[in-house]
Amino acid sequence: MSDITGKFLKVKCKKCNNEQNIYNKAAGEVKCLVCQETLARNTGGNSEIMTTVLRVLN
Ligand SMILES: [Zn+2]
Repeated sequence: MSDITGKFLKVKCKKCNNEQNIYNKAAGEVKCLVCQETLARNTGGNSEIMTTVLRVLN
């Protein structure tokens, strides 16, 4: 997958199907606003999306 760090992504939570725009940060975790499931996790500059990416917004 291409480098999507620093981009906005539209994702769908696997657990509760909430659709949410997230900013894929260079470090840290992004959680679902509804159920707190981890949607993305970035460690050491490596992006790991834990859920379904619907589209990249930029
Ligand atoms: Zn959720």
